[in-house]
Amino acid sequence: MSNTAEGTRPAAPPNPADSIASPTGIVRHGHESLIAQPSTFLLPRGPTRAMAEKPLTALDKDQQQGLKSIREFLKVRTSYDVLPLSFRLVILNTDLLVKKSLNILLQNGIVSAPLWDSHTSTFAGLLTTSDYINVVQYYWQNPDALNQIDQFRLSSLRDIEKAIGVDPLETLSVHPMRPLYEACRQMLKTRARRIPLVDVDDETKREMVVSVITQYRILKFIAVNVDQTELLKKSVSEIGLGTYGNLQTASMDTPVIDVIHMMVKYSISSVPIVDESNHVLNVFEAVDVIAIIKGSAYDEITTSVGEALGKRAEDFAGIYTCSEEDRLDSIFDTIRKSRVHRLVVIDEENRLRGVISLSDILQYVLLQGEDED
Ligand code: AMP
Repeated sequence: MSNTAEGTRPAAPPNPADSIASPTGIVRHGHESLIAQPSTFLLPRGPTRAMAEKPLTALDKDQQQGLKSIREFLKVRTSYDVLPLSFRLVILNTDLLVKKSLNILLQNGIVSAPLWDSHTSTFAGLLTTSDYINVVQYYWQNPDALNQIDQFRLSSLRDIEKAIGVDPLETLSVHPMRPLYEACRQMLKTRARRIPLVDVDDETKREMVVSVITQYRILKFIAVNVDQTELLKKSVSEIGLGTYGNLQTASMDTPVIDVIHMMVKYSISSVPIVDESNHVLNVFEAVDVIAIIKGSAYDEITTSVGEALGKRAEDFAGIYTCSEEDRLDSIFDTIRKSRVHRLVVIDEENRLRGVISLSDILQYVLLQGEDED
């Protein structure tokens, strides 16, 4: 499989053997030295430059058209459009005990909920698995506090964040009637995997949480509604989709707490579980933490990954894999048909090659070839 990245490498400066750029930016040619001008670092003009820019192939053009169609679609649809005709929204009061919030999430089969401060009648951020992971880390660092677990309320999450030195609870939100494109850009900017839709009630002028949209919902919405995803025929390796270096993995025997530390340290929501030959056996996900700590079993976090994965709910969506030769159109096809939250990239012998998260797909679809601004 060819890698188009080769074709986009910047051209080398003229006579590279003669030119050495020093850390001070002075380029020396033989014995004479000259101050580097900004143009020194630009691609050479004229025929050499034309040669550096390969003409677009039919595949390139289709890919560009596919991306353009998705972006146009996201600009004319609102976040409100993503919501199903009928849906349920669980909002938790910040006075609620952390322990009870966990049971509510589990009973409702959800992994996040907007928080409401009834003292100020305002939206107080989004409760996610990261918050429970913070609580686990807090108890790990302060084992003596374990007997206080039953008294912690959702309003104390901020103190826990401060105590363990992590970023505060995300209070970012978007208006449901703004273009969906904006919600996507906000998510990529803040690395949030979900974003609450907050409106203002016409009568009371108070904030009103309408729903929460996730990267998963948005990608499914695109997959179902944009036929031009069929044009995205470039393979995962051709477009460099996902992460392939410095992959964080664990084994079935790794203690869950070590995997949790890994997820916090590298800001990742999953860790592939591999054997000694790097064959993929499973994937530990941030949402798995909720089932493990149910019943206030925070001190059970020393269990192994293998035991923890045995506690997964029966309706677990499963692990999705793909190869580096798979094309983006087939990934969208899978997103359309299944509950995919990430794809593990494997080789023909089931060995780990990389991870493609939904944020990688969203990032590519929104920003590939665009000016960063
Ligand atoms: P996620 O937390 O799944 O949204 O992923 C955030 C970023 O980290 C994405 O660019 C992923 O490709 C990357 N990533 C996800 N899981 C891992 C992992 N286990 N090791 C290294 N990078 C990862």
